[in-house]
Amino acid sequence: MALRDIVLYPDDPLTEKAAPIDTFGPELAKLAEDMLETMDAYDGVGLAGPQVGVSRRILVCREPDAEPRCLVNPEIIARDGKETAEEGCLSLPALYAPVARATKIKVRACDPMGRSLEFEATNLLARIIQHECDHLDGIVFLDRLDVLTRQAKLQEWEEIRQQLSAAAETA
Ligand code: ZN
Repeated sequence: MALRDIVLYPDDPLTEKAAPIDTFGPELAKLAEDMLETMDAYDGVGLAGPQVGVSRRILVCREPDAEPRCLVNPEIIARDGKETAEEGCLSLPALYAPVARATKIKVRACDPMGRSLEFEATNLLARIIQHECDHLDGIVFLDRLDVLTRQAKLQEWEEIRQQLSAAAETA
């Protein structure tokens, strides 16, 4: 397994629509393992392909104290309920904002070996999957905010990003 570098917003390919995956098997499973290891190393609960520079429709996620999941070509086929809660993102570290999401979703996907999955997710897991599926369409949580909040958060992010690169230079 290997740690992957995390792409920071708005670098490529974070704002692009990721391509569907048509080749399943050990190589894809290896990518999923790397993504899980990277997610855990950064204490994340979800990570999408574009966040590690792979513009493909794959994501990993893990609710606290639960088994990790890897979803390939995921589709949200039903949504129900609505709740607003604070979200963060490994591509926008140290930035948080309240985002409205469905509280219950139905998901269709494959695993890395190409086996079909269909399941329901609620609350936190539903939120994580919606957030990560957005990444596959080039959308980050900032894009889900109202215009004024988005503007303020973008400005906050610019400052955070400057501090991050200043810290990286002196490291
Ligand atoms: Zn994210």
